[in-house]
Amino acid sequence: MKINKSLAEEILKIRESTLPSRKHSRKVTHWKENHRLRSGKGEALVFILPTKGCSWALAKSGGCSICGYIYDNPQESDFDMMVSSIKNTLRRTIEEGKFSIKLFTSGSFLDENELPIEIQTSIIQEIAKYEQIEEVVLESRPEYVTNKILQNLTKNIEMSKIEIAIGLESANNRILKNSINKGFFWEDFEKSAKRVLNSGAKVKPYLLFKPPFVSEYDSIKDILQSVSKVVSIDIDTVSINAMSIHRGTFLSEVYEQKLYRSPWLWSLLTICKEIKQKYPEIRIICDIVAGGKERGAHNCGKCDEEIIRKIKKFTLTQNVDELEEEEECKCKEEWKSILISEKINISDYLHVPYLE
Ligand code: SF4
Ligand SMILES: [Zn+2]
Repeated sequence: MKINKSLAEEILKIRESTLPSRKHSRKVTHWKENHRLRSGKGEALVFILPTKGCSWALAKSGGCSICGYIYDNPQESDFDMMVSSIKNTLRRTIEEGKFSIKLFTSGSFLDENELPIEIQTSIIQEIAKYEQIEEVVLESRPEYVTNKILQNLTKNIEMSKIEIAIGLESANNRILKNSINKGFFWEDFEKSAKRVLNSGAKVKPYLLFKPPFVSEYDSIKDILQSVSKVVSIDIDTVSINAMSIHRGTFLSEVYEQKLYRSPWLWSLLTICKEIKQKYPEIRIICDIVAGGKERGAHNCGKCDEEIIRKIKKFTLTQNVDELEEEEECKCKEEWKSILISEKINISDYLHVPYLE
């Protein structure tokens, strides 16, 4: 069983009570940002496509315990408007330089139920017209990465440009089942990832730092273990996503009962350092959503901005020296003592290099 029935029931209850308040904007949103491409610094053009949302979040199993993206999706999509809006934005925005295009649906771009295959094709064909576009990032759950879908992409774009981002979150099946309600296991991810790599495209797993019921200490350990599993199947990029608490989710209820503290920025700094030192060739992306806020990764409030700036710079340059601190803030001691107490009291004593 890949699902913990009681957790799934709790999640579904919360989902069903929040879904009626869902927003209905059907506009394609986009923005441009600095980005680290495989070939160096460039720009990313990010699109949020208003599909009807993630099939897993709408299923009877309730979706993931941590995810409230579904509340931003409309109930129905206007696909013609979507394609023409993307076409116009590309024409206006793609200039000289190198670009990464990110196509986010708050679900799975490759799910035909969410985005029919002919719409997927029209969008990809538009993008393929621009030489400046070196990377195209599509998000998908592993079950939608089928041979049929990959063959369709192969017909329409150079596969080396495609990167499929999969929300693996953790390579630990216990966490996937009992904390996140992901509905798939590491082995499912592994199969899909290999299929993608064989097609000539890339895979970018998202790893989630600090899901519910996992301590700060154990989550550091879990990210490091997950990275080593991912690297063992020849994946060259990982995205470390620090938890931010979405409203209308199981996690949000746990947080409101004061049973959860969002991640420390010190932990993220440590994770980035550890991974880069161990795997210098791996590209590490660490974008911090709601950084410095109560519902996002934060420290004491005084040093947050500085640490976020360092991690941002590290993501852009991949230079581990950017993570060095000139002066340590006092809250670092508090963070360390929390980790040590978690290690002694609730961890299963596996190795975290930082604390040895
Ligand atoms: S995290 Fe991803 S798979 Fe889970 S409910 Fe949200 S969009 Fe769906
Ligand atoms: Zn501080």
